[in-house]
Amino acid sequence: MASQRTLIKNGCVLTLDKGVGNFHQADVLIEGTKISAVGPNLSAAEAEVIDAADMIVMPGFIDTHRHLWESILRNIGTDIPLEGEAGHLAIILNTLAPVYRPEDAYVGDLVGLYGAIDAGITTILDWSHIQATREHTDAVIKALQESGMRAVFAYGYPWWKEPDENQDDWIREAAKEYFASKDQLLTFALAAQGPEFTSFEVVKAQWELARELDARITVHVGVGRAGRQGKLGQMGKAGLLKNDSTYIHCTTLSDDEIKMIVDTGGTVSLASTAEMTMGYGMPPIQRLLNHGLRPSFSVDTETNMPNDMFTQMHAVNSLQHALIFDQKLAGKRNLPAFMNSRDVIECATIEGARANGLLHKTGTLTPGKEADLIMLSMDRPNILPVNDPIGAVVWGMDTSNVDSVFVAGNALKRDGKLLNVDLDNLSRMAYESRDYVMTKSGFRLPEI
Ligand SMILES: [Zn+2]
Repeated sequence: MASQRTLIKNGCVLTLDKGVGNFHQADVLIEGTKISAVGPNLSAAEAEVIDAADMIVMPGFIDTHRHLWESILRNIGTDIPLEGEAGHLAIILNTLAPVYRPEDAYVGDLVGLYGAIDAGITTILDWSHIQATREHTDAVIKALQESGMRAVFAYGYPWWKEPDENQDDWIREAAKEYFASKDQLLTFALAAQGPEFTSFEVVKAQWELARELDARITVHVGVGRAGRQGKLGQMGKAGLLKNDSTYIHCTTLSDDEIKMIVDTGGTVSLASTAEMTMGYGMPPIQRLLNHGLRPSFSVDTETNMPNDMFTQMHAVNSLQHALIFDQKLAGKRNLPAFMNSRDVIECATIEGARANGLLHKTGTLTPGKEADLIMLSMDRPNILPVNDPIGAVVWGMDTSNVDSVFVAGNALKRDGKLLNVDLDNLSRMAYESRDYVMTKSGFRLPEI
């Protein structure tokens, strides 16, 4: 039987693949899970035709670091920093996380995932440091599977206690049970504890475990004062850094440590809104660019941050320009180049795919890749008339423009509405879990 065909007609198509090009008007043909052709005036027998006039068709956004289990705690910590007595670590990770049941982790993930789809994100890395038991793992993976998104499940050790003596066996079991194939929507990574937060021996053992399992590694480094201890450099000197790792934040790393990441083929995830507002240190966007590395972007946590990549694009672009203009106003010369809208949209798509180890599958609308794409409305009053489609996506649009979302050719959102989800039920579950976690932990929601 021929695989199912969908023909998206007459869209403004941003493939973001320089070899294929971008088009003011073109079609995208999806066959089965893959993009089979991009270009003007395509035709295909027995295809479902979708009219994309007044739409930008582009690769879905890619988030490279999100603690999805925290999504039932949305905006609970908008005014709190990372550290300190009433900080994120004390409240979210040491007070609320310990009372999470597997079903709370499931609901947290689920509500975060549907929010991400709604915002036009097609691939997400779930940095899941809620793995208190083997059952938490099953619950979170169930949510990832149900969502229909492409996702990297990054297994994380619980923050608030020492790892269980069976933890590494649970990881091996999960890898075997769920991730024996890489040819599926869910792939596996290890969310390592990070050299600033545990001993060198533990770090080394976790990195060796990831490599034993052929899993990518994702790790927080250069976080606030702790990031200034030279711990990543120590790992680099021990030969642990390779091209299978993504380094999150990197805000207070030394230039030598950033160079080590670049030289070993590592990728970086910037969560710049969290970094700027929660006290991680200055996002190192310019230092990365100076070394020739373009970062990917991430939301990090919905306890503080909005859940979309439009916000991340605005933040990084604004910050990079502000840093250069500040030096220009101070009379300095020979300054670095400004990032432009094309650079920024590529960070939110191509670099995300690279950092998640999935650039061969997603990140551009290249024939042969998986059909992970979004359609953004150009006929809304917040954006018309569209004069520069890339500039419109990066600066003019927001989540209200996300009309349709496809992952592996499967529609997850159409005509502005999420498919395959009972929102009333999702809402009921989210409030029930939120209430349980609050009551059990004794934590009280902020006053208004
Ligand atoms: Zn994080």
